Amino acid sequence: MKITEMQFGTLRVPLKTPFKTALRAVDFVEDIVIMISTDDGHTGYGSAPATAVITGDTHGSIIEAIKHYIWPRIVGQDVANLNVLTRLVQTAMEKNSSAKAAIEIAIYDLWGQLYDAPLYCLLGGGDPIITTDITISVDYIDKMVADSISAVERGFESLKLKVGKDIELDIERVKAVYAAVEGRALLRLDANQGWTAKQAVFALQTLEDAGVHLELVEQPVKARDLNGLKHVTERVHTPIMADESVFGPTEVIDLIRMRAADIINIKLMKTGGISNAIHIADIAAMYDVECMIGCMLETGISVAAAVHVAAAKSDSITKIDLDGPSLCTFNPIDGGVIFNDSEISITDAIGLGIREIKGLEPIH
Ligand code: MG
Repeated sequence: MKITEMQFGTLRVPLKTPFKTALRAVDFVEDIVIMISTDDGHTGYGSAPATAVITGDTHGSIIEAIKHYIWPRIVGQDVANLNVLTRLVQTAMEKNSSAKAAIEIAIYDLWGQLYDAPLYCLLGGGDPIITTDITISVDYIDKMVADSISAVERGFESLKLKVGKDIELDIERVKAVYAAVEGRALLRLDANQGWTAKQAVFALQTLEDAGVHLELVEQPVKARDLNGLKHVTERVHTPIMADESVFGPTEVIDLIRMRAADIINIKLMKTGGISNAIHIADIAAMYDVECMIGCMLETGISVAAAVHVAAAKSDSITKIDLDGPSLCTFNPIDGGVIFNDSEISITDAIGLGIREIKGLEPIH
């Protein structure tokens, strides 16, 4: 199975409610989709969104990176040589992690097709059903409480609240949601770099003293402020998770050695795809550190790939935050992963099992 051709498309899906974090507000998901064809008639699918404020990747940079740096290295290569291929992708250029992720996802999809098995089976098997949380955007208190209650009524047992805008108001937001859903759902907070280390310690100690039990708090401080992250981790009981602070495996090793956080959030768009996500899950397992697997605002192609990784690496990936497709008004992907609110299941379709993408607009 040799790689012969590549095509790009764009896929745009409106969100049910605008997605608001401390960093940005958006009301639709837009992915660059890549389709890689082989000499024996197979097609592998990959995709990536633009997240300029997190990874630095834009739609334009993703296309340019793939066309001019990654694609020339992999065209003509045999899909059976997966490790050679992923190495070629990862060393094609610095950074550009979302472009690398899109290509790797398509390659792994083909690799599954080559061996006629669902991807997670080739990655080591596991339970094909996982449970995700859902994101509650940062907003007025009443709106966040209403959104949280409606998510619990839809069956979500973990809510990820976006905070990090205004420290005093954030504390009130969390207290109000906690009171509304206590005993019915666990709360995760994501501050998206919105606090200083001192503010984070103040907010979390205040919440702890008020009896608010949080499952974890994600990225309280700026991405580069590893010392600040460590400062917070040392001073609160609530588990602290690193998201924007760590992208690849070597950063994860540094973070674990520093004891700067308790949990690591793996995202394919940060790791540059599946190969490094697997490395991180394995490194974390060696150190008995738990991981979450998360996504950006992405559609069901790249999120399906994350679902396969999560199922196969459930030993260290114990928390799932793959709500991208369930935040969309509809799922344009007819594929091997079924997103049904909190429950995500993998069918026995081979590879990623993608059969059709509705509304895909080709890029020429
Ligand atoms: Mg996050």
